[in-house]
Amino acid sequence: MLNEPVNQIPSVGDKTEEQLAMLDITKVGDLLFHFPFRYDFLELKPLEEIAHEEVATIQGEVVSEPNVSFYGKKKSRLNCTIQVGVVAVKAVFFNQAFLKDQLQVGQTVTLTGKWDMHRLQMTVHKFHRQSFEEANSIEPVYHTKGKLTLGQVKKLINYALKSSLEEVDEILPEKYLHNYKIPQRQTAIKELHQPSSKARLKHARRRFIYEELFLFQLKMQYIRRENKAQSIGTHKEYDQDQLKDFVSRLPFELTSSQKRVLKEIMDDLKSASRMNRLLQGDVGSGKTVIAAIALYTTALSGQQGALMVPTEILAEQHEESLNELLGDKLKVALLTGSIKGKKRQDILTRLENGEIDLLVGTHALIQDDTLFNQLGLVIIDEQHRFGVSQRKTLRDKGLTPDVLFMTATPIPRTLSITSFGDMDVSVIDEMPKGRLPVETYWVKENMIERIHQFLIEQINKGHQAYVICPLIEESDQLDIQNAVDVFEELNDIMPESIKVGLMHGRLSAQEKEELMRQFAENEVQLLVSTTVIEVGVNVPNATTMVIYDAERFGLAQLHQLRGRVGRGSEQSYCILLADPKSENGKERMRVMTETTDGFELSEHDLQIRGPGDFFGKRQSGLPEFKVANIVDDYRALEVARQDAVNVMNDRKLEEDSEYARIKSLIESDPLIQERIFD
Ligand code: ADP
Ligand code: MG
Repeated sequence: MLNEPVNQIPSVGDKTEEQLAMLDITKVGDLLFHFPFRYDFLELKPLEEIAHEEVATIQGEVVSEPNVSFYGKKKSRLNCTIQVGVVAVKAVFFNQAFLKDQLQVGQTVTLTGKWDMHRLQMTVHKFHRQSFEEANSIEPVYHTKGKLTLGQVKKLINYALKSSLEEVDEILPEKYLHNYKIPQRQTAIKELHQPSSKARLKHARRRFIYEELFLFQLKMQYIRRENKAQSIGTHKEYDQDQLKDFVSRLPFELTSSQKRVLKEIMDDLKSASRMNRLLQGDVGSGKTVIAAIALYTTALSGQQGALMVPTEILAEQHEESLNELLGDKLKVALLTGSIKGKKRQDILTRLENGEIDLLVGTHALIQDDTLFNQLGLVIIDEQHRFGVSQRKTLRDKGLTPDVLFMTATPIPRTLSITSFGDMDVSVIDEMPKGRLPVETYWVKENMIERIHQFLIEQINKGHQAYVICPLIEESDQLDIQNAVDVFEELNDIMPESIKVGLMHGRLSAQEKEELMRQFAENEVQLLVSTTVIEVGVNVPNATTMVIYDAERFGLAQLHQLRGRVGRGSEQSYCILLADPKSENGKERMRVMTETTDGFELSEHDLQIRGPGDFFGKRQSGLPEFKVANIVDDYRALEVARQDAVNVMNDRKLEEDSEYARIKSLIESDPLIQERIFD
């Protein structure tokens, strides 16, 4: 019956069918895969350890005939005395008069219910006519919807188990079951629904954790392979010496991380298969120079490059720095939404006839009327769930360039191999030499005078400082009021010689720009700000940052904020003013004082927030696993990933009949259609 609609089950009518559909259950087989989301493990508790009104499980002997009284409409109450050790407990059952015959004097029973310690009475929720040993002590709990009760769900699943379990096929090749000592699919399904022991339940869960992660990673590797395979002349041929010469003329030596990453990228550029790579590296780790080298390589081989960034300001900044690095060799141009009319037309014409080597701009750069002469590489900076739609746009224009995504958000490895599992990932995990880590302190409000003192000292030494005001979520008004208060207070306290500025979201673009100019030129020494500080603010002379109510920020945000100091050669400081009440909050502050490594912080952030919240909902591109959890099951994830890579390399799907079921599962998955562009 596996593939029959649920309405083939005798007890399922239209209503139930509708409610099951809300749980994504339409076929009898779906019931089998509607796994419990939780299990209640019953444990016997000695009476003296049960708190008043606590729900607990006890075992005892029936010592009195049950006594039933009826009241109201169809309501009943059944009382019965149960001897538990030396205590006579009064067991009360509501509306279960039918139990009268099952409660026989001398019988051992197990009861779960709410304990009233004053009356020595238990209101029974669940009753077993057996000793605790014999009663099943693991209770599966399922999600339900609408009027569907937990009891109904269990009955339906029971029906499905009886009628269809035998039809379920094994999909994993024998080798995996054997190597990982995990149960067969049928056995595991049964055990998940009707656990026979904790140990066997654990094995069953392990099996499905692996199955889910393995299938998912296989899909990712499949997509990766198919996308790589599209190669319409994207491989680069260039003069090695010219490139070496360029790299050796850089004012610094590349870090070993940069060298490793560069090699990975160059291999992609040279290869005939298409690059689809994510480059991760903390702010300041030196991604831009890597991008410049890749773009230069592209130009050397006679193709055009494009660098796409999220805002116009960033586009201008990048165009400037690329012109500095490459301006004497290449023709670099800027294209943003505010470049219009004749100027725009001119750029488009030169782009189309190949006069422009390198185009920098916002997303408009690959859309609309832009026509490239021979686009060989697109670099996309600072966007998260970019991949899919942008690749689609390129495909629609008939372009299949190499694509490199860059992000300054350190992404924990477990997330990057799930969310970005179909891409190759390169990581810059070290900072250029000579950077001093920012010293970070966590202090409470009572230290505020010492902090003021410290700010004055630092500024008197010729440095500058930021003060970040508390974030008031959902209230722009309060957010700004707060900043105004802090600003006025500091303005009073600071000596005449120190000029204090105030930055917040209500200032006009011009006012912001003017204030930033004043800060950059040290006309303003102390900048009080909400969190709106512009992206890309770079004032190396600023050495101190004070963050008010730091517990209100997430780790990722604190890390981004702190990244604005420590940009020069002087020692920098970050002071977190916080009095967190929760353990999580305290943990966050501790972690911030202990490390400045973005990847380490991101791992902690993932632990504290969980995978769903890391990128913010929806955006994550994370699949929903039924059993697996990528944080708790990261070891299984690594194993599954490696297995999937091996399966693809060995062409198992194509050549080994044991993989036939998996192959058809993968190829029929909608995700595959969505992400492969041909
Ligand atoms: P990112 O783009 O990753 O934020 P950038 O490429 O802008 O970082 O680099 C930050 C600063 O460090 C720039 O001024 C850059 O010139 C410099 N830089 C990059 N790589 C190195 C290196 N290997 N050694 C010293 N300085 C470097
Ligand atoms: Mg290539």
